Amino acid sequence: MPFRGPIRRYLDWLHLRWPAGTVEPLPEVRPDGSTAVPGLYVVGDLTGVPLLKLASDSGARAVQTIVAEPAFRSRPAEDGTLDLVIVGGGVAGMAAALEARRHGLRFEVLEASEPFSTLVNFPRGKPIFTYPTGMTPAGELQLTERSSVKEGLVEEVRERTVGSGITPTTARAERVGRDGSRLAVYLAGGDVRRAHRVIVAIGRSGNFRRLGVPGEDLDKVSNRLHDPGGYSGLNVLVVGGGDSALETANALAACGARVTLSYRKPELGRPKPENVERLRALRAAGSVSLMLGSEVKEIRDDEVVIRDAEGAMRTLPNDVVFTMIGREAPLGFFRRSGVGITGEVGAAGGAALGAFVLFCAWLYHWKSGKAIPLLGPLPPWLNPDPARWWAALEATGGTLGAALRDPATLLGTLRISASGASFFYTLAYSLIVLVFGIRRVRRRNTPYVTVQTWTLTAIQVVPLFLLPEILLPWMGHNGWFDGGVLKGVADALFPAVGYGHGREYWRAYGLVLAWPLNVYNWFTPQPLWGWLALGVAQTFVLIPALVYVWGKGAYCGWICSCGALAETLGDQHRHKMPHGPRWNRLNALGQVVLGAAFVLMALRVVGWIWPGSSADRLFRVGFDGYAWFVDLFLAGILGYGLYFWFSGRMWCRFACPLAALMHVYARFSRFRILADKKKCISCNVCTSVCHQGIDVMAFANKGLPMEDPECVRCSACVQGCPTGVLSFGQVDRRTGKERGSDPACLAASPVRRVEIPVRPA
Ligand SMILES: Cc1cc2nc3c(=O)[nH]c(=O)nc-3n(C[C@H](O)[C@H](O)[C@H](O)COP(=O)(O)OP(=O)(O)OC[C@H]3O[C@@H](n4cnc5c(N)ncnc54)[C@H](O)[C@@H]3O)c2cc1C
Ligand code: SF4
Ligand code: SF4
Repeated sequence: MPFRGPIRRYLDWLHLRWPAGTVEPLPEVRPDGSTAVPGLYVVGDLTGVPLLKLASDSGARAVQTIVAEPAFRSRPAEDGTLDLVIVGGGVAGMAAALEARRHGLRFEVLEASEPFSTLVNFPRGKPIFTYPTGMTPAGELQLTERSSVKEGLVEEVRERTVGSGITPTTARAERVGRDGSRLAVYLAGGDVRRAHRVIVAIGRSGNFRRLGVPGEDLDKVSNRLHDPGGYSGLNVLVVGGGDSALETANALAACGARVTLSYRKPELGRPKPENVERLRALRAAGSVSLMLGSEVKEIRDDEVVIRDAEGAMRTLPNDVVFTMIGREAPLGFFRRSGVGITGEVGAAGGAALGAFVLFCAWLYHWKSGKAIPLLGPLPPWLNPDPARWWAALEATGGTLGAALRDPATLLGTLRISASGASFFYTLAYSLIVLVFGIRRVRRRNTPYVTVQTWTLTAIQVVPLFLLPEILLPWMGHNGWFDGGVLKGVADALFPAVGYGHGREYWRAYGLVLAWPLNVYNWFTPQPLWGWLALGVAQTFVLIPALVYVWGKGAYCGWICSCGALAETLGDQHRHKMPHGPRWNRLNALGQVVLGAAFVLMALRVVGWIWPGSSADRLFRVGFDGYAWFVDLFLAGILGYGLYFWFSGRMWCRFACPLAALMHVYARFSRFRILADKKKCISCNVCTSVCHQGIDVMAFANKGLPMEDPECVRCSACVQGCPTGVLSFGQVDRRTGKERGSDPACLAASPVRRVEIPVRPA
């Protein structure tokens, strides 16, 4: 093994050892199927999980949402304008059609080839898994026992739809556009359909993925198996490791073909357990040869060249190749229709992103009063002084003016606190957490989310706003800290210098925001022993204990103010967090910031002992740079500037030094997300909703307890999983054995429908 330096080994141990699967781009769709284009809905596979029942459910629900819209109910009756056009006659589109008929709408279904073409093209005799087993989809398109094989499924869905009078028009839609107050669906050939609402249900019928090897265009290479019976006695290569590949290999082998299954990964983590078991049985019977960790290099007329797991080139006799490596979603249709694609910013989005980052740059310089590097302080027109607003009010005289001038009154205290920009920043921050917290609770209504959101909101509002900005100053002005025990406490924690109130009450933020997230109570000109004692207990005793039992999320997801905003304002942007190995490497940035905080702390201590020494001078320069670069630029300008484009956890995941420290603690934690492997259908929903970029599915579909230290216990994966695989739990640190779900989790798990925007595998 080549030499690997200690830093690389440390980062492997901490971050790089964890799987880092990516998430496929899909159209931006809200939980109710609506999109940024008013009146245009997307349902079925393109909204989340590729499952029949969920497709049917989403189609019916979209129509229910439409008919409940006040604007739709008051639509003008216009000649030639339909109430609804449904593009795609698959399960989702036909479920929408049944629901539209039930509501008496004037609608038309447009289908490019034939109704249920995706199902019709399943291999003959394909077993059908109707997950989630306990779920009954909304609407009339239900699946019964008959649908446990392809033929029964096609028969049943046709009977319930086409058989009951729903007749799609054969036409391919090219895009959807706006035509005044209506939507226009443009068809291949030039026809147009106009409607008040459009539901797009075209499934994942985009281009088939390609292997990119010589010989791929030969006639014997196909990406669809219709009838496995025709391949008996032939040498067949199936490429891929998902359900389609395994079902193809199993069906061919069962019909007497000599099958080789080649998959580039070293294990079959994705397919349904039933398919894996069947493959194993056929392999044991000698009907299938399995080449894991292999790569197809070339396809020739009568043979194929494959590099095996050991790196050796093997040439196998071959008659037919099935490349079952999936399809790309038809993103072009959505781009042409003005629907955003996850992960794509675009020119208008880029301009909006740039403008918002600039706004954050202004906001954080105004709030902190710091100068902009190389440019100096904010000019007066960008630097409004709230003290002036109060001066104008005070000048009004009367009772109001008198109350404002008296610091012992609540109004007087408020005037002093609200004379600085940071008061307004914290007030706005707390209001946003409160408003978006209420919305989160309404949207993701589980007991876990409710308690978590109210806890985060209460901590933000009370100790992180009311206490430092109003309560403590008011107590101070009313003599509470003039003598006795409280004076001792106040002297230790809020030294009596400067800042309007005569004491530094702002230091109370440190009661919640621990070192090194908040460094200002430690990096002081003279040691503040009260804060040092309290801070050491927080950072090195209390937080490690919390992390040991409940994981890092006990702090990041239940206490911290950055977490409060991310779980409320950021809740609907969680799927925008980038995933993949490159981004996983960036997790190391937090370790660099943490290292800088420790170095500064060491310099600070030396500076306290030898004031004026070079260590002291170095500390001052380093601290100025740290305060601007880490607190203002990384946490503020980038952390919030990127919020609506890259999720609300950019700062938390990549750069927060306290999170970086907790990642180390979390490696010794008992907390895990447990997975019931046999229920996992490898849909990737859990990974796609994780705003810490964790590849949850890579653990779940192997039945491994999820132990990536980045987890913030937001519960999105537990709640979003359509088959109820995941639960918060614990393992025994000594034996590694699972100790079961923790009771709090039961309230978080699982709902039948995916309630948050998702991007499936
Ligand atoms: C090989 C395979 C095996 C599967 N096995 C299972 C299983 O066992 N259990 C399970 O629950 N799910 C399974 N699924 C998933 C299931 O098939 C899908 O979830 C379901 O078909 C999605 O329905 P849909 O209506 O969203 O899309 P689709 O069923 O794909 O329907 C989309 C329709 O839109 C039409 N269309 C496309 N483009 C246009 C256009 N531009 N204009 C007009 N019409 C258009 C297509 O012709 C198609 O008829 C499987 C999928 C595949 C591919
Ligand atoms: S609870 Fe799930 S979604 Fe949330 S951070 Fe942890 S792994 Fe990610
Ligand atoms: S654990 Fe993840 S991949 Fe498995 S079924 Fe649930 S959401 Fe899908």
